[in-house]
Amino acid sequence: MASVNYKAEGTVFDIQRFSIHDGPGIRTIVFLKGCPLSCLWCCNPESQKLAPVVMFQQSQCISCGKCLRACKVGAISLDTPGLIDRQKCVGCGECASVCPTGALVLKGEKMTVEQVVQILKKDATIYRKSGGGITLSGGEPMVQWEFATELLKACKSQGWHTAIETTGYGSEQAVESVFPFIDLALLDIKSMNSQTHKNVTGVTNELIHKNAVRIAQLTKTVIRVPTIPTINAFDEEFLRIAEFAKTLQGVDTVHVLPYHTLGENKYNLLGKEYSMGYEIKPLPPEEAAKFQQIVQNQGLRCVVGG
Ligand code: SF4
Ligand code: SF4
Repeated sequence: MASVNYKAEGTVFDIQRFSIHDGPGIRTIVFLKGCPLSCLWCCNPESQKLAPVVMFQQSQCISCGKCLRACKVGAISLDTPGLIDRQKCVGCGECASVCPTGALVLKGEKMTVEQVVQILKKDATIYRKSGGGITLSGGEPMVQWEFATELLKACKSQGWHTAIETTGYGSEQAVESVFPFIDLALLDIKSMNSQTHKNVTGVTNELIHKNAVRIAQLTKTVIRVPTIPTINAFDEEFLRIAEFAKTLQGVDTVHVLPYHTLGENKYNLLGKEYSMGYEIKPLPPEEAAKFQQIVQNQGLRCVVGG
């Protein structure tokens, strides 16, 4: 059994227990901060920066001014739209710690492997009975690959099933370190067209495709396609994705993930623009079914949702 550094520290922005998505059985999802991509439709925009960020919910603010006095860098003014000058804010979280109503919430805190494992242990019986386990998500877990590796080693030493939601974007060192401790990789392929990929995620797709080959060699892999009208919801795109998926060792399943707008409000809370635009509508079910058929015609299993 590989030795574990339980003192290794990472920045975690959420831990969700009792999830029935993102892998088999009942799971705990550990969300790690930091992502090299900035997808226009990202439903976890608070994850993108590695550093902690504060979210502000105007409707819960009673204008008590406590945050204003707590902020050491003068980033808060009750006259500022969205309360916080994001250029000045250093993400210290002092404001959130004094806010009496929960209008301010800090997303991201340093945790050790030991601290995360203590939380995960609460549900160890549920993992065993349901065939579940833990899923690393983000952000992109490979951004904090050293922490992710230690956490995964700790989970494997407990005998827990491990999964990861990944963009596939990471260094060779990160891939070789993390994936030997993963039982199931849920790997996003967003567009086979590299220029489109860059336009909508900020990065080209070559590294992702190279890593996909290696990830599929190292662990059971499912390809997931966030399916966005006007960006990749096209027959030709799905045909190319299915053809690529077939070349990956052991890959037999593709998930079509219909676009939704659930993360939209978080952009307001972070004082950010929702650059997707509000005119893009969720993917109609009949469109999803058509893409499912295209993938199935290539001899792969295809699930809508997943
Ligand atoms: S997180 Fe820190 S720096 Fe940012 S507004 Fe709050 S107190 Fe000020
Ligand atoms: S401490 Fe909370 S409730 Fe008070 S002004 Fe700041 S955000 Fe509003």
